[in-house]
Amino acid sequence: TSNASLTNDPTSTSNASLTNDPTSTSTSCISRLQSHLYRKPSPHKPSPYLIYKLRNYEELHTRCGPNTRAYRRSMMNIVNSNNSSGNAAMCKYLVCVPVNGLGNQMISIAATFLYAVLTDRVLLVRFGEDKYHLFCEPFLNSTWILPKNFPFWNYKLVQTYQTIILNKDRGINSKQDLPSTLFLNLQHTKNHPDKFFHCHHSQHLLSNVPLLILKSDQYFVPALFMNPSFNSEITKMFRERDTVFYHLGRYLFHPSNEVWGLIRKFYEEHLSKADERIGLQIRVFAPDSTPQEAVMDLILSCTIKNKLLPELDTQNSMPYTTKNQSLKVVLVTSLNEEYGENLRKMYENKATVSGEVVRVYQASHEEHQKHHDKMHNMKAWMEMYLLSLCDVLVTTSASTFGYVAQSLGGLRPWLLYKLTNNATHFPACQRDFSLEPCYHIPPNHYCNGNIIKDYVSTFLYLRGCNDFSNGVKLV
Ligand code: GDP
Repeated sequence: TSNASLTNDPTSTSNASLTNDPTSTSTSCISRLQSHLYRKPSPHKPSPYLIYKLRNYEELHTRCGPNTRAYRRSMMNIVNSNNSSGNAAMCKYLVCVPVNGLGNQMISIAATFLYAVLTDRVLLVRFGEDKYHLFCEPFLNSTWILPKNFPFWNYKLVQTYQTIILNKDRGINSKQDLPSTLFLNLQHTKNHPDKFFHCHHSQHLLSNVPLLILKSDQYFVPALFMNPSFNSEITKMFRERDTVFYHLGRYLFHPSNEVWGLIRKFYEEHLSKADERIGLQIRVFAPDSTPQEAVMDLILSCTIKNKLLPELDTQNSMPYTTKNQSLKVVLVTSLNEEYGENLRKMYENKATVSGEVVRVYQASHEEHQKHHDKMHNMKAWMEMYLLSLCDVLVTTSASTFGYVAQSLGGLRPWLLYKLTNNATHFPACQRDFSLEPCYHIPPNHYCNGNIIKDYVSTFLYLRGCNDFSNGVKLV
């Protein structure tokens, strides 16, 4: 059944093994109980080893998470020791500092969670208050939200991993020289220096630091995959390599009751009666220099050429003449109202050559990306989730908003070309080859310092992304 995913739905036998206390979820997180009513049966079953790793992780989180004696003691030890060697901390922590838009933040939280599981660290997420109400707590009877009284809330004062790596004179393998807290920046920056994060020597060094603060906006799972010991664990956990986010995303990100209410309402009103649901995610990265007509051309050439949407029947002025036509519903997500409106008007009361009826709905049009705005984030999360419930997905290249929808839904989307700078000619849209998000900035050096020229021939199961040059993803 669909319940064989990692959602902690207590009605399913396989999921019952994924939650340590199913009864406690039933009152607190409605989406956990109800999501299977909206999702198709899952073809991807979690491996027993993944379930085992998650059970172990949950035990660790319960024992060492916030509001426990172990947490207080460990933090006290970490604060009071200047280096890692004198540290008797009982638990090790990984503080995730997700940055940028919500899609970026969600893919980086999932990658950081995998890193926490692989390194036996407790994951705590430094959410802004505008994100507190988006998700249910993933770990039962505990919290993943970094407490406000966390001693290193202001992480800018924490020593950086980069200075340690760059400062060769310090002898980076000396445990005595390591601090008890390190800040690691895996964010996409213009001139990102290679941090050798994937290398054994780095991971050996980092394993001696009890508290890591990791800032990222990236899905760095492929970098973990490039490390031989993580690689063998990931391979055991995920029998299908392109389901890492699919499983971890569904395990971590359950819409809060507030967001679930919005999702259900929209779904029941507009999507539930459709024979086929088409999700169309239109992300215009440079709206000032991107003509709307070019975007519309791009959308229509992709959807009509690939028969995702039918052509209008210009010979027939009588719409909906035959009985029992099938209904296609298009869910448009965009910051701009015009795209949904144009498409809606195009199909409204018109006959199509296939005889299908096409209805178009857009859930919101926020005009521009907003920061620190709770309702704005709720809408974004609602829309990513609704897209993930569609049967067919068309997303915009390089958009992490689209990545979340595609991976959560277990869908290989059609990728719209990323329009910028007055482009009016563009290649046809392509079908993606994997469910996974793309890692935009993979490491560019081998651990011996040589430049990596070709990922694919060196790292089996990594492939260049279709939608982002230099990006890689798991296949
Ligand atoms: P990316 O920039 O496309 O990779 O996606 P992100 O999610 O990281 O950042 C874009 C942000 O802009 C989102 O998180 C939303 O806040 C906002 N946004 C962009 N597109 C949409 C959309 O279609 N619907 C809504 N509600 N918000 C959007």
